Amino acid sequence: MIQVLPDSVINQIAAGEVIERPSSAVKELVENSLDAGATQIKISVRKGGKDLIKIIDNGSGIDPDDIEKSVLRHATSKLREASDLFKLSTNGFRGEALSSIASISKLDIESNGIRAEFEGGVLTYKGDSAITTGTTIAVNDLFFNAPVRADFLKNDSVESSRILDCIVRLAMANENVRFEYRADNRMLFCSEKGSLQSRISDCLGASVVRILKEVQWEEFGIKVWGFVSSSDTEGKRNIPYIFLQKRPIYNALIAKAINQAYAPYGDHSPIAVIFLDMPLETFDVNVHPAKREVRFSRDSAVFSAVNHAVHNALQNAISYPSISIVNELREKAPSYVADNREWRVESYSAKPSSELFPDDRIVSLSTLNSQLSTPNISTPSPDCMQIGKSYIVCEQGQSMLIIDQHRAHKLILFERALQALQSGENLASQELLFPENVEIPAVLSPILDAQKDEIKKLGFYLEPFGVNTWRLRGIPAHLRIGVAGKALIGFLEDARESRESDLFRKNALCFANNSAISSGTELSAQEMKAIVSDLLSLQNPYETPKGEAIFMKMSIEDIKRKF
Ligand code: ADP
Ligand code: MG
Repeated sequence: MIQVLPDSVINQIAAGEVIERPSSAVKELVENSLDAGATQIKISVRKGGKDLIKIIDNGSGIDPDDIEKSVLRHATSKLREASDLFKLSTNGFRGEALSSIASISKLDIESNGIRAEFEGGVLTYKGDSAITTGTTIAVNDLFFNAPVRADFLKNDSVESSRILDCIVRLAMANENVRFEYRADNRMLFCSEKGSLQSRISDCLGASVVRILKEVQWEEFGIKVWGFVSSSDTEGKRNIPYIFLQKRPIYNALIAKAINQAYAPYGDHSPIAVIFLDMPLETFDVNVHPAKREVRFSRDSAVFSAVNHAVHNALQNAISYPSISIVNELREKAPSYVADNREWRVESYSAKPSSELFPDDRIVSLSTLNSQLSTPNISTPSPDCMQIGKSYIVCEQGQSMLIIDQHRAHKLILFERALQALQSGENLASQELLFPENVEIPAVLSPILDAQKDEIKKLGFYLEPFGVNTWRLRGIPAHLRIGVAGKALIGFLEDARESRESDLFRKNALCFANNSAISSGTELSAQEMKAIVSDLLSLQNPYETPKGEAIFMKMSIEDIKRKF
């Protein structure tokens, strides 16, 4: 017997397609606010959006007579004819979002002095509301009647960072709109209306903006514009933000076209914010109800336009002053001392003698060490020299060792961090006399929130200082001042992307990878000695956690044979 499905079931099936997770609901709701011409959108969520998603906008509002209709399937004020499906001046056009969300949640809509409450898509209350400008929508208990879907959700911080990612994408495409996003009452993102550059700065961090080059290109009627990171910086954030007709999209072809433009400059994973405009009949966004995927009628033209656009930007544009200059200046002053003892020293109370000289920003570790150290008699460190600012050469027994300084330091840090995390002890931290402010890009703040305890165990002491800014009061004892902020951001980025399932191992790895002294860094004799003796005191000093060789050994016999 054939039965026609009731609307409530159809809506729930549609919800499965359109509303995969809380972030998809946020995307739909914010797009509705944008369609309504809002210039201010406030988003707040509780428990990763599962308990509550609330959107307050100052858009055109919903007509009191239309409020109930708005949650009906295929109810839209935006699509009139089938041919409109191919035009895309507004974000929504299927009238599916609100009905889908309503069918799996408890939804409150307030606009024009009216409040309507729905449960599973059914109107349960209608009355007066104090809200007269714009629209306020609250989604309570998303998936309350779709428990299977709810089971598939990740933990709250993962969901709230997905929501943030989705808001950031919409915010980049709508720089004239003010955005605010709070998760569990903590402000995670706030951006005033402004230029695209200021928007990117709010989303990805001010330091990112300084390495951006402008993209502007037109080819085959395809306009490409935006910003990409310059070719001489190592960016590891491989997150291309791609927009078509100012709508965020995901497209592997375009990502590839961007990456290929960097190929001549070596191994890059650039930051890219790329907008595309092209004639409406040359693409189709109707592939998936969530409207993220796009088909182009001429893939090769799109690929070529994007590739040329980025290529051109990298060749021509004048570079903005790079932050590496600032880092260079900073690195000159402090000295890095990778001495065994440091790890045992809790240097919090230490008052360096040079306190009066603001130039000396470091809590003078050398002073500290000379006060506290007892010469390490058991393993006399060999004399070392450095080659190419990257390799340490020294004698051990009757052999010559050539040590990769970066890899060696990475392994040392990894072993120590792992031990500290596993035993629950904190790594030693040095207090900063002049605390450094670090701007944590908005996209990383949920990771920071989730990893707060681990970060402290690793020796970073942070205090909130404005929306996306944190004050670094203490940093891991072995880190050079001035690179600690960078190491912390790198740690968060890696922690976000890492697939490592062992949490201790993952954190230790991300920490070591970002904190180890890099190749090309000049080391003092003392620093080299410390690395060598630390390395040789490890049980397995031969390779990094990833299995890369750390040193080369040549015995005296080998050397004789060479002659
Ligand atoms: P669509 O956006 O595809 O039209 P939705 O289900 O998302 O469908 O929304 C249904 C209708 O509800 C919209 O067409 C619009 O008229 C109205 N609406 C929803 N959200 C808002 C809002 N924030 N401001 C004004 N109108 C809205
Ligand atoms: Mg919509």
